Amino acid sequence: HTSKLPNVGTTIFTVMSQLAAKENAINLSQGFPNFPSDPVLIEMVQQALRENYNQYAPMPGAMILREAIAEKMEYLYQRSYHPDTEIVVTAGATQAIFTIISAFVRPNDEVIIFTPAYDCYAPAVETHGGKVVPIQLQGKEFTVDWDEVRNSITSKTKMMIINTPHNPSGTVLSADDMLQLSKILENTNIILLSDEVYEHIIFDGAQHQSAALFPKLAERAFITASFGKTFHNTGWKMGYCVAPKPLMDEFKKVHQFNVFSVNHPMQIGVGTYLKNPENYLQLPAFFQEKRDFFLEAIKASRFTFTPSQGTYFQVLSYENITDEPDVEFAKRLTKEHKIASIPLSVFNTNNEDHKLLRFCFAKTEETLAKAADILNTI
Ligand code: PMP
Ligand code: GLN
Repeated sequence: HTSKLPNVGTTIFTVMSQLAAKENAINLSQGFPNFPSDPVLIEMVQQALRENYNQYAPMPGAMILREAIAEKMEYLYQRSYHPDTEIVVTAGATQAIFTIISAFVRPNDEVIIFTPAYDCYAPAVETHGGKVVPIQLQGKEFTVDWDEVRNSITSKTKMMIINTPHNPSGTVLSADDMLQLSKILENTNIILLSDEVYEHIIFDGAQHQSAALFPKLAERAFITASFGKTFHNTGWKMGYCVAPKPLMDEFKKVHQFNVFSVNHPMQIGVGTYLKNPENYLQLPAFFQEKRDFFLEAIKASRFTFTPSQGTYFQVLSYENITDEPDVEFAKRLTKEHKIASIPLSVFNTNNEDHKLLRFCFAKTEETLAKAADILNTI
């Protein structure tokens, strides 16, 4: 048989995490925390297990969690999403993203994505016969050329996928960016998929510019989120999406047949925990401390950087060190220096290589200090 995805290999996150394990290297590649979730949250999940929330959750998710999500969207972005019709809990943001694309993208539809792009978007589009239209983010700050975006829209453009704070670059879209996007999309039928899994990990006092804040974006947007990122438990694979009812009606047609509903006891625990805003309001300061610790520790190294504005990733340039291709350099660092990272070229069309590596700083200070000691010798 012929492959539907001839150009897709094994995701870089698996490749680098496996290599890190084999080489016994510090793993700053795949993005996940190496510290525990809040014991209060763990206890809430355990209580849900004991209270026997062990059968199917309702198809769109446990009501306590949908209500908590609605309250959060209202509180942070002043937009109401109805828990009955406009919120669905998913198995991580990944399932939300795949299901959104599955529900709307038909063969030959065009989907605009910004590169370097998180690696689950393009394969989902291509599985459904869609065509990816990549737009390269510009320069060291990974900015968007909005004229290029305007000129990339055709009668076939079905969807645009944005991601702020942005993985892998650690940049964020400004309010002005969102207004420009809003002007471009109004009076079109283009669906916006706004991947906001790092909404609570944003630094230096910046405010997350959710699509929910902009009426002309919100009316056409699916917003995706991930509790794995927010509450330090990527292994739970818990996330959700919100969208206006007409869009969500179509989403549910697919969701009910590709998963029906997701992990019930986790939803009860996370729903109870999410009710307290303090549990997410503390995150920017928590992660900013880690970013600052890491950057201070490597400031004398030969790597150069612009501080991450959001996400728990820091991009480092090694242009002063070697001109090796980034995939080879990342593998060599793992094998010879025992530190694993993610090469950025894998997220670019044609694997364009700008000598950049991504390091995850969602780690204990002990781990970050050890990593810095290594990076300072390279
Ligand atoms: N989008 C982005 C930008 C991500 O970084 C991730 C997680 N790495 C996801 C989506 C997927 O999130 P989840 O683990 O909840 O499926
Ligand atoms: N989102 C995580 C990252 O960017 C990895 C998720 C995965 O392994 N699929 O590192």
